[in-house]
Parts: sequence; structure tokens; C-alpha cells
Amino acid sequence: MSYDLSNSAPPAPTRASGSINQRTENVCVVGAGAAGLTAIKNLREYGFGVDCYERETGVGGAWNWRHDRSPVYASAHLISSKPFTQFPDFPMPDSWPDYPHHSQILAYLERYADHFALREHIWFGTEVTRVVPAEDGRWDVTISGARGGGSDRTQRYAAVVVANGHNWSPKIPSYEGQGDFAGEIIHASAYKDPAQLRGRRVLVIGAGNTGCDIAVDAAQQSVRCWHSSRRGYWYAPKFAYGRPADQIGDLVSSFGLPLWLRQLLLQRTLRRTVGDLTRFGLPKPDHKLLETHPIVNSQLVYYLGHGAVTPVPDVARFTHDTVEFVDGRVAEPDLVVLATGYLPRFEFLAPELLNVDAEGRPRLYLHAFSPAYPTLAVAGLLQPDSGVFSLMHWQTVTMATWLRLSENAPDKANAYWRRHHHQFSQRYNRAKVKDSTRHWFEISHVEYLRALQKALTEMESAL
Ligand SMILES: Cc1cc2nc3c(=O)[nH]c(=O)nc-3n(C[C@H](O)[C@H](O)[C@H](O)COP(=O)(O)OP(=O)(O)OC[C@H]3O[C@@H](n4cnc5c(N)ncnc54)[C@H](O)[C@@H]3O)c2cc1C
Repeated sequence: MSYDLSNSAPPAPTRASGSINQRTENVCVVGAGAAGLTAIKNLREYGFGVDCYERETGVGGAWNWRHDRSPVYASAHLISSKPFTQFPDFPMPDSWPDYPHHSQILAYLERYADHFALREHIWFGTEVTRVVPAEDGRWDVTISGARGGGSDRTQRYAAVVVANGHNWSPKIPSYEGQGDFAGEIIHASAYKDPAQLRGRRVLVIGAGNTGCDIAVDAAQQSVRCWHSSRRGYWYAPKFAYGRPADQIGDLVSSFGLPLWLRQLLLQRTLRRTVGDLTRFGLPKPDHKLLETHPIVNSQLVYYLGHGAVTPVPDVARFTHDTVEFVDGRVAEPDLVVLATGYLPRFEFLAPELLNVDAEGRPRLYLHAFSPAYPTLAVAGLLQPDSGVFSLMHWQTVTMATWLRLSENAPDKANAYWRRHHHQFSQRYNRAKVKDSTRHWFEISHVEYLRALQKALTEMESAL
């Protein structure tokens, strides 16, 4: 199996030509999903003017199911619980459940935008097509009407915060014989509604959270469901001891125990609550807990136990009518759903601007700041073991503080930058996370927040 990574090749960093509108008092934010919204709010609170460009017609990004690139499907609920997901200064309503539905998360982001009056800073239906460095650390940002409408315009900004999301560009595997397969093959990004599975013979490839959700939908809708996973995983339930599982995990983290003891305690908790999954035909995990992104799903085990989902290993090859697995078993699906994840994509930025390595992975200080360009940052490029909104909040507070320090005390800012900009290989995760594109931005929320707090303290003391 191989993956096509060619979609991560953006244009060369030439300078923009033609007339340029000067917006040099302002910061440009690309995207009005959760990360872009909190970036606007925090930059405004630190006194910056902000122009945000959003290619869609509304806020919410991934959670806005009306958007053609939204990865959410009808049955999607949060997998991180409410208090571990919400922005620290904007709680979700008490009346909402522990794991709200995706439509509630969109409503929450819309209310956040209204509450902090963010929409007046957003140009909707406007796509950023090019970002190139100009003199003095400024940036020339070319925008155009989304989907080819309107003519290009280039504006010069003091800084750019990229918040374009990393869950919209499908990672498509290619298997031997795939082209000859007579059935239908879709990526999970094209899966919206369980009706798509009704009466079909479905193979779901991939055991991330999306793959498990789709297998659960297929268990209820399809005539047959196979679920292919490359390795054994730890499947955490949504609730343990009557509480959301991430809250139990966080409680254990708060004891300050060494990683090995935490892994042991959490693995024991899973054995007691979920049990031995090899009984259901799933492979034994080939790694310790916390070494892969958490899978949180209580229903998959239930449907495995009902025989409604047949676990199978990695795909070996496709034939005209069948799919063969590496253990020699064969399935005859008429629909294959590739729940194989997404890749980050920055088609408007040259790779060197984000210190992109040979594999296509941006190497950024704090997973946020471009090491060679102190006025270019990426918000939300994180895959935490927890909800992400609060991390985005503190990450963009750090960006705003950094830009404020650069403006108010440039010498101190330069000294800070010299001390830290090369720290782009830090992992913010004590666990030995599996080396795969899925784990490029995998972080422990506790360790990442500590690193942000340290950076903020150092910057604030210099302000
Ligand atoms: C199925 C699923 C379940 C998830 N569950 C959880 C969960 O339980 N908890 C959690 O915390 N997170 C979860 N996530 C992660 C989710 O991606 C984040 O919560 C969050 O939505 C990411 O926000 P973002 O702003 O970084 O990116 P997005 O929400 O993708 O927003 C990016 C925005 O940028 C815009 N944009 C992109 N390129 C351009 C351009 N060139 N010009 C102008 N605009 C542009 C897009 O239109 C979009 O609006 C889940 C993701 C998926 C796919």
C-alpha cells in the first residue's frame, strides 16, 4: 500500500506583482474555523487589527456540515468531552450532554463568533490563494472570490496566522488491483449519512475515530460490514466509572505519576471496563496505551459482540469482485469506505516557509511558529489526546503575545527568537508515539499547555 503525498506541493515563493493594498497595521488570519475564530478574538484583545479570509460562507470550518469540505457525518458527536473541548472563556451550555452532536458544536462556534463580534473582521466567500514574504517581515496575501469568482487582489500584512485546518484533504491509499475493483470506493470525507450504507455490503478501512464511527453506522444499516485495521488498538469507552473517559484519563495525569505507571493504570482500567478485545477477533495492541491517538468508541465493541461487524486485518489487494486481506481471508463488499485520514495542505504557501520536511510535514516551533519567519504562524495544527479548542485558545494567545512583544520590544523579541526558534523538533509528548502521518501533530495536552505557559511567561516578562 502507498499514499499519494503529492497534494502537499505548493507554489514557489515568488514575490507578488501588481498593485498592493497596504494593510500593514493588520494581521491576516486564513480561515474562520475554531482556530481562526479564536485567533481573531485573541489578536483583537491584544490590540491588533485583523482581516480574516474564509473561503466558505459561514464560520465553523470542519463543524459546518454545509461546507463542501466538512468531514463531519450525520452521526458525529464530540469524542472529547465538553469541559475538555470548550474555549476557556466561553463554556458550552450546562444543559448540553457530555459529548454534544456536531450540529451543537457548529451552534457553539456561531455563538462564539457573535458573542465576541468576530464576523465584522471576516471576509466570507474569499479564498487566500498565495502568501509570499515581502520586505521587513511583512506578507503579501493574494485573495480571490472562492470557487473562481472575482478577480485577484493582493494586500500587505504585518503578520499572517494560517488557520486553514488539517482535516479536509483526504489521504488516499493505493492498493494493488484497486483500479480493477467493480464496487464503489469512497473516502470517509464523502460519507455524510447512514443512508449511504443501507442494504450495502460495506468494507470500512481504517480504525481511527471516523472509521470506527462509520463501522458502527454500517453495523446498523448494511447487510454485511467488515472493518479493516492495520494493527491492534486500545479502544477506550466514552464513559468509565460513569464519567467521560477523558476526565478519568486527566485525573490519572494529575497525580504526576511517571508515564509507565500511568500507562499501566489506564491499561488496567481498560481491561476492567472494556475487557480483552482479542475475544472479539481484534488483534492485540502492538504498542502501549498513549502511543497512538486515542480511539474513543463504546459502540464498536457492542456491535462486534453482536456479530454485526467482522474485524479483518490490513488489505493485501483488490480483485474485480473481492478484497483480500493479509491473513488470506476474502470479503465481497460492494462499497469500500476509506477512513484513512487527512493530510495537512497549504497550497498557498511554499513548503520552505513552513519548514516542511521531505515527508511533507511542517516543522514548527510549538507546532505553530515558522522557524525562519517570525511573523508567520499556523494555528490549530495539533492532534491532542483531548479536545482542541482550549489549546487553540492558548496557542493564539501566545501568537498575539509574541506579536505584541515584537512590536513593543523588538530587541527582547529577537533575543527570545534566537533562544527558541530552532526548537521545532520538540514533541510535547512523553509517550513514544507511532511514527505515521496520523501522529505528526500528536501531543499530550498537559505537556503542550505547559510549553505554552512557559513561552507565555517568558514573553510576558519581557513585555
Ligand atoms: C470526524 C471528526 C471528529 C472530530 N472530533 C473532535 C472532537 O471530539 N474534539 C475536538 O477537539 N476536535 C475534534 N475534531 C478535530 C476538528 O478538526 C477540530 O475540532 C477543529 O474543527 C479544527 O478547527 P480548525 O479551525 O483548525 O480547522 P477547520 O475547522 O478545518 O477550519 C479551517 C477553515 O479554513 C478555511 N480555509 C481553508 N483554506 C482556506 C483558504 N485558502 N482561504 C480561506 N479560507 C480557507 C476553511 O474553509 C475552514 O473554514 C474532529 C474532526 C473530525 C474530522
